[in-house]
Order: sequence, then structure tokens, then C-alpha cells
Amino acid sequence: MSALVSVAVPVPLRQVYTYKVPEGAPRPPIGSRIAVMFHGRKLASIVVAHPEDPPPGIKLRELAGLLESEPIFNEELLAFLCEAAHYYAHPIGEVLKAASPAIPKGAFKRLRKDGFLDEGEELKGRAIATEVEMFVRRTNETPKTRLGAAQQAILDALVVDEEVTLSELRALRKDARKLVRRLVELGLAVSEEREVIADPFFRNEVARDGHQITPTTAQRTAIERLTGALDSEQPGAFLLHGVTGSGKTEVYLRAIAHARRQGKGSLLIVPEIALTPQLVSRFRARFGDAIAVLHSGLTPRERDRAWRKLRDGTLKLAVGARSALFAPIENLGVVVVDEEHDPSYKQEEGFRYHARDMALLRAHRAKALCILGSATPSMEAFRLAERGRIDLLSLPKRATANRLPSVELIDLKRNIRGPSGSRWLSAPLHRALEETLEAGEQAILFLNRRGFSPSLRCETCGAVAECPACSVALTEHRAEGKLRCHYCDHQRPPTNECPTCRAKGMFSAGIGTEQLEELVTNAFPEANVARLDRDSATNGRAIEDVLDKLRSGETNVLVGTQMVTKGHDIPGVTLVGVIMADQSLGFPDFRAGERTFQLLAQVAGRAGRGERPGRVLIQTFQPEHPSIVCASEHDYETFYQAELADRESLGYPPFGRAIAIRVDDGDENRARQSADRLAAEARRHPACRAGAVAVKGPAPAPLSKLRGRYRFRFLVVGPRRPLMEIRDHLASLLHRSRSRVSLDMDPVSMM
Ligand code: ADP
Ligand code: ZN
Repeated sequence: MSALVSVAVPVPLRQVYTYKVPEGAPRPPIGSRIAVMFHGRKLASIVVAHPEDPPPGIKLRELAGLLESEPIFNEELLAFLCEAAHYYAHPIGEVLKAASPAIPKGAFKRLRKDGFLDEGEELKGRAIATEVEMFVRRTNETPKTRLGAAQQAILDALVVDEEVTLSELRALRKDARKLVRRLVELGLAVSEEREVIADPFFRNEVARDGHQITPTTAQRTAIERLTGALDSEQPGAFLLHGVTGSGKTEVYLRAIAHARRQGKGSLLIVPEIALTPQLVSRFRARFGDAIAVLHSGLTPRERDRAWRKLRDGTLKLAVGARSALFAPIENLGVVVVDEEHDPSYKQEEGFRYHARDMALLRAHRAKALCILGSATPSMEAFRLAERGRIDLLSLPKRATANRLPSVELIDLKRNIRGPSGSRWLSAPLHRALEETLEAGEQAILFLNRRGFSPSLRCETCGAVAECPACSVALTEHRAEGKLRCHYCDHQRPPTNECPTCRAKGMFSAGIGTEQLEELVTNAFPEANVARLDRDSATNGRAIEDVLDKLRSGETNVLVGTQMVTKGHDIPGVTLVGVIMADQSLGFPDFRAGERTFQLLAQVAGRAGRGERPGRVLIQTFQPEHPSIVCASEHDYETFYQAELADRESLGYPPFGRAIAIRVDDGDENRARQSADRLAAEARRHPACRAGAVAVKGPAPAPLSKLRGRYRFRFLVVGPRRPLMEIRDHLASLLHRSRSRVSLDMDPVSMM
């Protein structure tokens, strides 16, 4: 009898399939990627088990080929992914596919040709253009003879226990290569050539100040707790709650350095890699080239290569966004989730997972240390800490001598227009900008809406121009001369005629970042104004350019969406203005208050990080709203306690859990009926009848129509176990539903 393999096929089916290994071929190891024929298609699938006996009564097919000779998932990672698939009730084949690097092009070609590979062939096929860099280190020797000035300059730039790259030395002297060769001959330096990963995030000049930082008392305490935990059997998880500018990065660095000394690898997950070039360069400064930076700009080959090096332990640290959670770190020691409150950690399509929750799971299973860091922890994380499920570490003050910035609330209802005549640039904000620019300092203005204006409205009947396929207003993009839907990207030219009453006279209602940029440019013609949003910066490189210009001081005022609120650490920024704080409060979502608090506290945290004190002005229609008041007072605790009481009274997370069931259909009635039927099933379930679980809805989703499909949703809330029973029951009924249904465990977006 031939050997068997169970494989997870990338299809939405909740089972694995058994295939035979061809006579004479070795059995592909568990975790390896093979090709199988599945309903007439050749699919890349993952071996998940080596069964001894075939399933009864089925004629087994042979697997079609091998894609790699070594497993892409080790045991730790595969077991974790299986558990994640189970937790989210998502088909295992799709989960493993989401976690796999894309297959480099050549691999498929070779497979088609010969079906099976041997290792030699595979390596040949994978020859990848590489960049070689020379790394130079100083030895302990002292020069025996006097060196020339040029040689001495290079020697002075070298450090004994840290490598400097030739590219860095070239910045000092063009002929550095020749000079280094001479220093090596003299025994004063050693050099080594190694492959490096070509990466756009590595082009930033690396700050080499890392080792000089002396931790503050609070940092030291946190570092000691974390390294102590790393020395123990089961290090556990920590919430590092540190105010903005408290130096959380230094704490991550030291914990990761400790793990490296233990020979262990680490994983650092950030909300958006393109927005954190500075963080990446700090890690690079500390750990040199031993980092894989995973981001969407990598080609399949580059990604594949990074994966291989992580797997074989050559690279000991992976940095990336959400999906870096699946990086195959060998001997995992630390998992850090920076800005753990960030909503981008939730994958909202396909395999809907939460990277923070899964980081806790992965670390726990691997007996690794998990650090969740934030200035504004999520309700979930802080509640875990409060209940003692994870440990709390606090950095209550800024790491530098500075205090947190002073915050002033400006009531937009009072409409104190400044000289620009616009209500969005109130007199106090205008004055503050004037003072900042006069002092040669910089400002960030935050407005969470891109485009020129969020809608075009009719003067006569008040109707707005809507997307024909979605239930949202079209955003005016004036520079482009277009109206655009921010959901489906429908575009059309702006009209002056009302689509509803046919009267002439549509006007721009409300303000977006494009208009704000224009407003500020006109009000301060001598200032250099730049904009950071999805329209102005469409890729990682463009984002980095905008941030570089802010850091260098070339930009005086940066206007932007939530992209400006993230961890930027720019000393020249002393003023932060929030144009309209209420915008995120309007969301039909139980997390609207939390989200608003986080955004405001985070953007305020960009001010006054250097030597000069910072100042924050928040314009709002609701200056008495608790989220806004607490953010203005940097008061996380009060916000948390008030919000917690609200959540408890409604039974929302972090009390119990929630599942959002979303139904969509091209036919509105059918969508409603499908949702009704599923909600009725949930209500009939014993767990619901026993009162432990509540079903809320169904109702049209806040975004009731998207891409021509009508959307309904309901929430099921309650304790984890009965909730998952109901979820599994609903999942078993899905194949009968005529509408498209998705089950979203621990939902973040309510849209
Ligand atoms: P956070 O992530 O908590 O907002 P960062 O890690 O960005 O803060 O640190 C803020 C600034 O403080 C950075 O410029 C960093 O270099 C500096 N910093 C951190 N720790 C120290 C320290 N112990 N002494 C002096 N400066 C520090
Ligand atoms: Zn649309």
C-alpha cells in the first residue's frame, strides 16, 4: 500500500482530503506545500497529517506534485493555524492559504514540466538576484603606525562590537572600499560580505544612537519584568501601557535583544508598515540586517526568500503588518503587537481574524513572550490586564524631560471664524498656527476625511449625489475633477444639476483634507503645506517621502487623515490641530467612543516630543463628550471606567463576546429573508433560550447597500462557549442560504 497524506485544499470546505503518494516517491513532510488535482483544477495545498489508514470506501487519487522540498510551516505554526481556523470557524484550507507566501512564478513552471522535484533542482530554479553588502567591524587592535587622514576617518567611524555597512562608509568617503581593504590588511578591521534583502524601508539612514539610551526608571522596571519572564518556562503576556512618547520602542528592543541572546527569534507586528519607517530604522540600527521587513511591496520571490531565511533561523526578527503574524519564525521567543488598539489589526475579508488576539494565542502556544503595547489600550486588552489574565506594565511619563502637551477644546458651535473666513480654521487655531510658524516650528492638522468635500448637496431639495451601487454619498475630488465612491470606486464628473429634483445648484458640503490643504495654503501663503492621505500618498515610498520632508523641516504644516496620527516621532512638531473631533463619534458602532478617544489621544501625542513643549487644539461640536474630554486630559483610566460601565450595561465586549452575521444579496427582499431566517435559528438555539446569549437584529447594515448588494446584519452577544455553539450551528446551515453570509467572530467594524 502506498503512503498517504491528508491535505488542506484552498477551498471553502471545512474538511481535509486524503491523497496517495506515488510509488517510490518520498512522503512529503507535514507542513509542506504540494499540488493536488481537485475537481479538475490543480491546487497548491498543505500537508496537514500522515494518516496510516485510508478513509473507507473512497478511491484515492495520487497527489500531483511537490512544490517545495521543505515544509513551509513548522509544527508550531501549523498547529497554531489549525487552532485559529477552529476559533474563527473558517475553512482550514483557506486559512493556510492566507498564511502562505505566494508561490514564486518559476515553481509552477517546473512543476508542470516534471511533476516532482529533487532538492538540487529546486534550489537552481530559485536562484534569486541578490544584493550583497559588505559589513565592517573594528578589531581591538591599535594602529602601530600613523594612518593617513582618510584611513583614520574610516577607522573612527567603525565600532568594535557593531557592524557598519560599506554603503554607510561610502557616505563619508567615496573610496571607502579601498580604505577598508587597507584597514583589514593592517588588522584594524574585519569585513564580511553577506546577502541583504533589498528593501525600500532599508534605504533610510540608520540612527546609531540606540545603545546610548539609558532607560528611565519606568522603562527599566518594564524591561526587568520582561526579561525575567523570558528566563522562565512560560513567559506569559503583558500589556505595556505607556503614554505617547514614553519610549515603548526601547522596551521592545531590549526584550527582543534578550530573546536573541537566548537564540530565539521574534516577531514585531505594527498597524501599517509604510507608516512606520522610523520604527523599522530603529530596529535596523540595533539589529543590523538580521531583520525581515514584510510588506505588501515585496515580490513573491522576495517574500519567499524572507520566509526561507526566517525558517532556517538566518533571520531572527520579522517586522510587518497584520499578516506578519504568520511569519515562520524559528524558535519563537517574543511577539510584540505595537499599537495593539489599532483597528487595522482586524482582517475584514476572507479569513477574518484579529492579529492581536491571534498573537496572544500564538505566543502562548509557542511558550513565547507576548507584549501588547499602546498609549490607548483597547477595552479588550485593558480588561484582560484588569482581570489579571495578562500583566500590566506602565510607562506613565514621557521618556524625555517633556510633559504631555496641553490640550484646548474649541467649540465649533460658537463658530469663531478666523481671518480665513472658514469655520474649520477657527480664530484660536489660526493664531496658534501663526505663532508656530513664526517660531520656526511645525504643525500637524488632522481631519479624518479625504477628498475636497465629503458630499455635493442640492441647494433646493437638500439631496446629495449618491453612488448608484452603494448607499453612500460620492466624495468630491476637485483636483481630479471627479466624484468618487470611497467603497466601490465608482467615478463620474461632478454635476451642477441635482440628480433628484433637477434644479441647478449643487454645492460642496463639508470639508475634506484636499480642501483643508487649500485653505491652509491660502491662509499662510509663506508656509510649506503638505498632505498625507490615501490620495496624496499611494504607496510606501510616497508615504516615506512625505514623512521625510516633515522630519527634515522642509514641510511646515502637514495636513492629513488618520495616517498622521500613527507613531510618528518628530521633534519639530509643537502644534497639533484637530479640525473636527466629532467625525468618528457619528459612526453607528458601539466602539465609536473608544475609537474617538484613541484617535484624539494618539494625534495629540505627536506634539511636543522634542525639546519644545507641545500644544494641541481640538475643534469639536461636542466639547462635553466624555471621549473628547478624557482625551484632552490624557486621562485613560477615567475613559476606560466610564466606557466599561456602558459596555457592561449593554452586554457588549469586553463583557462576553460578539459575532456579527452579515447577509448580502442582489435582491433586497431575499437578503432580508435570509437574515430573518438565520436570526430565528439563532434565537431557537437552546443557548439563546436559556438566556445566556442575546440576538440583536437583524437590521439593515449601516452601509445598507454596497456594490449593488443589499446588506443586513445581526449581532449575537454572550459568553464564549454558548456563543460558539450557536455560531457552529449557523455555520452548518450556510450552504442552504441563498444569500451570501459571513460570520464575523469578535467583529471590529459594524458596517
Ligand atoms: P512611544 O512609542 O512610547 O510613543 P518612542 O519609543 O517613540 O515612544 O520614544 C519617544 C522618544 O523618546 C524617541 O525619540 C526615543 O528615542 C526617546 N527615548 C526613549 N527612551 C528614552 C530614554 N530612556 N532616554 C531618552 N530618550 C528616550
Ligand atoms: Zn459605490
